[in-house]
Amino acid sequence: MEKNVKVLVATRATHGLRGTDQADCVEGELVWMKDPCEIGACDPDGMCACGRTFFGMSSDKETTSALVRELPGLTQRSYESAMRATFDAHGWCSACPSVQFRKHVGDLAALAAALPAGTIVGRRLGALVVRRR
Ligand SMILES: [Zn+2]
Repeated sequence: MEKNVKVLVATRATHGLRGTDQADCVEGELVWMKDPCEIGACDPDGMCACGRTFFGMSSDKETTSALVRELPGLTQRSYESAMRATFDAHGWCSACPSVQFRKHVGDLAALAAALPAGTIVGRRLGALVVRRR
């Protein structure tokens, strides 16, 4: 049997603690981290939110809070499928090899695996910051 992986899902918990908080995702949906643009990369707390937000895989909306969860039956493979569906839905990288989805999912799973389930995290560029445990 394939092992479950820990994942990041959107949460409204801790929303509003910071002036820059956003919570526009569907509660509980899988989220991922887009590579930040130049503006976001230079200043994750600045004008562009892309260095501090997670994107909902289904809604494509943004949230600044995510919850580490272990979802029954969610394996590395089904996580990759969800990521691939997101890319497909946007028409991104349809010609890209699957290595692209694996990289995103691998990075997310590695970040989530380091934290106990139930941890609420924020994002600072490529890293997670614990908001509450
Ligand atoms: Zn940006």
